[in-house]
Amino acid sequence: MSQDNTQGPATGIIHNRHHRDSFGSPYSPVYNTTTYQFENTEALLDVIEDRAPGHLYTRWGTNPSIEELEQGLARLENAEAALAFASGMAAISATLLAHGRKGIVCVGDLYGGTQELLVNHCQALGIPVHFLFKEEVGQLTNTLGEPGKLVYFETPANPNLAILDVAGIARIAHQHGALVAVDNTFASPINQQPLELGADLVLHSATKYLGGHSDLTAGALMTSAELAAAVVPWRKNLGQLLAPETAALLSRSLRTLPVRIRQHNENAMAVAQAMEKHPKVRRVLYPGLPGFADHELAARQMKGFGGMVTIEVDGDRAASTAVADNLRLFLLATSLGGVESLVSQPCATSHHGLSPEERLKRGITDGMLRLSIGLEDSEDLIADLNQALTKAFG
Ligand SMILES: *Cc1c(COP(=O)(O)O)cnc(C)c1O
Repeated sequence: MSQDNTQGPATGIIHNRHHRDSFGSPYSPVYNTTTYQFENTEALLDVIEDRAPGHLYTRWGTNPSIEELEQGLARLENAEAALAFASGMAAISATLLAHGRKGIVCVGDLYGGTQELLVNHCQALGIPVHFLFKEEVGQLTNTLGEPGKLVYFETPANPNLAILDVAGIARIAHQHGALVAVDNTFASPINQQPLELGADLVLHSATKYLGGHSDLTAGALMTSAELAAAVVPWRKNLGQLLAPETAALLSRSLRTLPVRIRQHNENAMAVAQAMEKHPKVRRVLYPGLPGFADHELAARQMKGFGGMVTIEVDGDRAASTAVADNLRLFLLATSLGGVESLVSQPCATSHHGLSPEERLKRGITDGMLRLSIGLEDSEDLIADLNQALTKAFG
C-alpha cells in the first residue's frame, strides 16, 4: 500500500495494489460483496465505533476494490485522498453539497449537467449560485464577499477549450476564504494537476479519459483528507457509491492512462495542425496551437494539451451537419475520452437548449464541430475529416 511519490505516474499507477493475494496474482481480486462477517460483536463494535479499521458495508465506501481504486486516483492527482463515485455528476453533486452550501461562484462555461444541477437544484435548495463569464473573472473579488464560498470552474472548458488560470483564481479565492474546485475531466491528471496549481478539490467524470473505453460510468474527487472526510457522509447517505466491479474495471483502465493520454495528445495535435491548413475550416480551437488565444496560459499550467479539438467549418449549420454525417471513423456521439474518435455538434447536443443568441454569447457557432480524438492512426482520422469536408463542400 506504500505510496512512493518519487515515482512517475505510470510506474505509480501500474504498481498500485491494495494487497498481495495468496495466489501471487499481480492484481487484486474483485470484491463483489456488500457486507463483511465479524468474529464477534466486540469486533463489530470496534469497527462501528472507530476503534479499529475494518469493513462494514460497501455503500459506506468500505470495499477493497473501491479502496484500491481510490488509492490509484489519489496517486494520479498527487492528492492526500480520493473518493470514487457512481458518476461524474455524483462526485460533483456530493462535493457541491458538502462544500458549497454558503454559496457557489462559477467561472466560464460548464458541463450541461453541472449547469442544470446549479440552476435547478442548488438554487431550489437555497444555495446562492453566481455565474461569471470567463471575461468577467476580474469581478471574482466582488462576488465572493463572506468567507466559506466555493469557486467552481472547468479548464479546458467545453466546447471552446477556453483555459482559466487555476493559480490566479486560487490566489484570489483563498484571499477571501473560499475553496476552489476544478473539473479536470477534459485535461486528465496526466496533462494537468490543479491541486499543484493551488486548487483545493479536483473532480473528474471518470466516464471519460480515466475509464477511456466508453464502457463504464464513474466519477472521482481528489482532495485533502480533511475535505474528503466532509464529503464521505453525503456520498454514503445519497447512495452514490459505484459497484465494486466497476471500480475494478476502472482500476484496470488507470494502468494505461499515462500511455493513452500521451497518444491522445499526439493525435489531437496532428489533427489540429492538419485542420488548420484546410481551406474549408475557418478556425481550429486547440490549446496546443501557438495561434490559440489561451495558448501561453495552457503551456504554463498544462503538461500536455489533451485530446479535444474543436473546428469551425466555413459554412452554416447545414454544412457542419453534412461534415458530421459524412464522417466514417468518427462516431456521431456525445461523450469523450474513449479510444474511439467521436464527433458532436455543440449547437445540436451540449448547447441545443440555448437560443442562437445565447449560443453566440458563449462563443458557440453553427459551424462548430467538437472532436474527441481517439487512439486510431492519426493519418486515418485526418483522411476521414478530409473526405467528409470534401463531400460537404463539394
Ligand atoms: C461528462 C462530464 C461530466 C459528467 O460526468 P458523468 O460521468 O456523465 O456523470 C462532468 N464534467 C465534464 C467536464 C464532463 O465532460
